[in-house]
Formats: sequence, C-alpha cells, structure tokens
Amino acid sequence: MRMSKGFALIVSGPSGSGKDTILRTLFEQHPEIRFSISTVTRPRRGDPKEDEKYTFVSRDRFEKMIENGELLEYNEYLENYYGTPKKPIDDAIKNGDVIILEIDVNGAANVRKNMPQIKSVFIMPPSMEVLEDRLSGRGTEAADTVKKRLDQAKAEIARRDEYDYIVVNDVLETAVDELYNIISNQIKNS
Ligand code: ADP
Ligand code: 5GP
Repeated sequence: MRMSKGFALIVSGPSGSGKDTILRTLFEQHPEIRFSISTVTRPRRGDPKEDEKYTFVSRDRFEKMIENGELLEYNEYLENYYGTPKKPIDDAIKNGDVIILEIDVNGAANVRKNMPQIKSVFIMPPSMEVLEDRLSGRGTEAADTVKKRLDQAKAEIARRDEYDYIVVNDVLETAVDELYNIISNQIKNS
C-alpha cells in the first residue's frame, strides 16, 4: 500500500458562514487532521476556545514576524493583522499530515502564489439573511462590527470562483461530510 503524502488545504468563507463550527466538528470526528494556528493582533472575544485557534500578539511583535520571514502569508482584516506561521505548515507536510489553513480570500490568494498546487474550499452561507442572523446571533460583535463584517462578506463571496470547491453550510452535518469527502479524495490521490 502506498503511503499518502502530507498536504495543506485552505478553508475560507465570510465571517459567520460557520467555518469554526464546521472545523470543530470535523476535528472531533477526525482528530488526525491538524489545524494551522494563526497569529493575530485582534482583541480577544473572551471565549477561551479562541486560544485553540489563535496566538494573540502585539502589532510590534507581528511586524517583527513579517520582517523575520516567519509568516507564510498575512493580511490586514478590519484594521487587525492575521497571519499563518510558516514552520508548522512545513513540519505537518513533511510529517505526512493534513493541515487546514482557515484564512481569508486575500491570504488564500497569497498562499496560492507560493504553493500553486494547494486546493481550497469556500464555505458559503445559505443566504445573506441567514448570514446576518448567524453573525448577530453569535453575540460576539457590536452592531457596527456586524455591519462591517457583512460588507466584507459580500466582497469575499464575490471572489468564491477563485476556489476549487464550494460547500454551502445549511445543515451542519452535511457541510462537514462534504468537507471531509474533499479531504478524503485528496488523500486517495496523493
Ligand atoms: P465563522 O467561523 O465562519 O465566523 P461560526 O462558526 O462562528 O462562523 O458560526 C457563526 C454562528 O452561526 C455561530 O453562532 C454558529 O453556532 C452558527 N452556525 C454555524 N453553522 C450553522 C448551521 N449549519 N446551522 C445553524 N447555525 C450555524
Ligand atoms: P475572525 O476575527 O472572525 O476570527 O477572523 C476574521 C477573518 O480572518 C476570517 O475571514 C478568517 O478566516 C481570517 N483569518 C483567520 N486567520 C487568518 C490568517 O492567518 N491569515 C489570513 N489571511 N486570514 C485569517
């Protein structure tokens, strides 16, 4: 039997589309899949689960990481920096693991320049109304931030054709299964 190679997979989608919810469910079902912890300068939302997803640093520290070439990509989103540390991605691929990069559309475009073979998945909300309900319902954002995130969402959705696959997050379990099928097909082909 052939050993499969490690690879990274990009998952993007507008804020509130359900990326976190889908990925958490995926990792519960498939704990062997790894997640790229981003380094960010945005303030914490107060949820301890956020530390599984982000390393929080100052702008100064982030700018040093850029200077030192420690980031595979980074982007400024609503006045905060978000970036992907390079080393854990290289290590995961060398180790034969699957690692998910949950990054925005600009970050995805930057990664594709360096890793043209990388596949990407765009998570779509079933409708803009549902997106707005989920964003406000999450209760983590002030009303003006929800509005900014919705404007940003429209701009991101307009770029969904840059992605290899689109998964609509209507029924959670279906979306998780679709994402896992994409990964599982890539494992078979690698
Ligand atoms: P993102 O990580 O893309 O910003 P979240 O995973 O935080 O989005 O989801 C936004 C909100 O929508 C959360 O309150 C979450 O519980 C809810 N949600 C996510 N997926 C679904 C779904 N399939 N059906 C109903 N609610 C969902
Ligand atoms: P949030 O503030 O909702 O956690 O994330 C805002 C946006 O930043 C989302 O679109 C998310 O996918 C994106 N994001 C998270 N981490 C990274 C990263 O490391 N790089 C880039 N480019 N975007 C990221």
